[in-house]
Amino acid sequence: METQHDVVVVGGGAAGLSGALALSRARRSVLVVDAGDPRNAPAGHVHNYLAREGTPPADLLAAGRAEVTGYGGTIQAGRVTAAKRVDDDGFAVSLADGRTVRARRLLVTTGLVDELPAVPGLAELWGTDVLHCPYCHGWEVRDQPVGVLGTGPFAVHGALLWRQWSADVTLFVHTAPAPSDDELEQLAARGIPVVREPVAGVETAGGRLSGVRLTDGTVVPRTALVVAPRFTARSAVLASLGLEGVEQEMHGAVIGSAVPADPMGATAVPGVWVAGNVTTLHAQVISAAAAGLTAGAALNADLIAEDTRLAVTAARSAVAV
Ligand SMILES: Cc1cc2nc3c(=O)[nH]c(=O)nc-3n(C[C@H](O)[C@H](O)[C@H](O)COP(=O)(O)OP(=O)(O)OC[C@H]3O[C@@H](n4cnc5c(N)ncnc54)[C@H](O)[C@@H]3O)c2cc1C
Repeated sequence: METQHDVVVVGGGAAGLSGALALSRARRSVLVVDAGDPRNAPAGHVHNYLAREGTPPADLLAAGRAEVTGYGGTIQAGRVTAAKRVDDDGFAVSLADGRTVRARRLLVTTGLVDELPAVPGLAELWGTDVLHCPYCHGWEVRDQPVGVLGTGPFAVHGALLWRQWSADVTLFVHTAPAPSDDELEQLAARGIPVVREPVAGVETAGGRLSGVRLTDGTVVPRTALVVAPRFTARSAVLASLGLEGVEQEMHGAVIGSAVPADPMGATAVPGVWVAGNVTTLHAQVISAAAAGLTAGAALNADLIAEDTRLAVTAARSAVAV
């Protein structure tokens, strides 16, 4: 017999563990299935998580897992491949190792994939010297030679943003639209040189970024390079339930895809909730955790409503007999 959990949480990052903590503390039977590759794994530390500033990502998650299991939640390593509704009796969740687990409700927190620009060498330095988020890494590269790789309409915005952390910022226009005259004036006023020669690759020394190589062979010394990944929701499990990622735009430009949900995390499929980066591309660790709690509380309310309906039906049957 397969155990029927109240909730199976797919993904054990900040969002999933936070949801699982709320549900375990609500005395729900919770199973978290986690593939173990959170988005920020390449980073040395988590920043802007109040009261846990600078904690290594793995340590934060280990503490979260201990809190969940401390309240009776179960966490298993594994990868969910698909889920399907089983009549009116919840969901059957398939794992890559061939197991199937059952759940009355699902909380899917599978995160997103950062798709990097097609410049050789970026992937090897991702999360250490190739960066995207000033709130995650800005302080750590303050005052350093920072490059901003233009690949879309936000290149100038990115250069002006990172200027807050370093006075030595260079904008590599690369494949971005050419800056307008107004933008060139702004960049000049902030002391940001503009390089129009396309970028061919990066240079390293001792495994760290040392420069940005242009197609004409020139190397511009830089110790940090900012890129704008495409943020693509890891939505395969949700797709198996009929929920597809929808393209997300910022100022008219597509920045990625996410699975839509209401403010509590409820999706268009009854019984399926989402939280974290799979539905909110800009969620940081602390906001992903907050969304997990919100969804967990909403899920518990939904289960309470069902438990009450079932109890009323049972009570009426008992009276009728
Ligand atoms: C390099 C880098 C550095 C960052 N630094 C910071 C920082 O300093 N501060 C900050 O606030 N934010 C930072 N972030 C953002 C942070 O990573 C996200 O906000 C956070 O990871 C979102 O949490 P999540 O739970 O939604 O997703 P994730 O943390 O990505 O967790 C998703 C989990 O789901 C699992 N999973 C996926 N698919 C399946 C499946 N099919 N079956 C089972 N499990 C599955 C994954 O293995 C993973 O463990 C950084 C991001 C990057 C890329």
